[in-house]
Amino acid sequence: MSGVVHESKPESLASDLCLEHGCPLTLICVNCGPGSYICELCAISAQHKSHETIALRQEIEQIMEQFNSKFNVFEQRYTMLEESKICEYRN
Ligand SMILES: [Zn+2]
Ligand SMILES: [Zn+2]
Repeated sequence: MSGVVHESKPESLASDLCLEHGCPLTLICVNCGPGSYICELCAISAQHKSHETIALRQEIEQIMEQFNSKFNVFEQRYTMLEESKICEYRN
């Protein structure tokens, strides 16, 4: 059997809606943990009012920045590898 099963569970971040308010989950509650996505109404609700929140967009931008810098390094290495391969092939 050569069937590779791709378990592509949709990693839903900002696309999820708040079960309580029906608003998009655009914030992360720092006090409630890294996986606690909340909506803007949650943030001002009694439960999270005193909690610190991070905007998801900001979080994504930070991740993307990290990813981009890593990707640049990877790209450089890959280019070097490809060049060395071509050299080997010619010899
Ligand atoms: Zn909510
Ligand atoms: Zn909270």
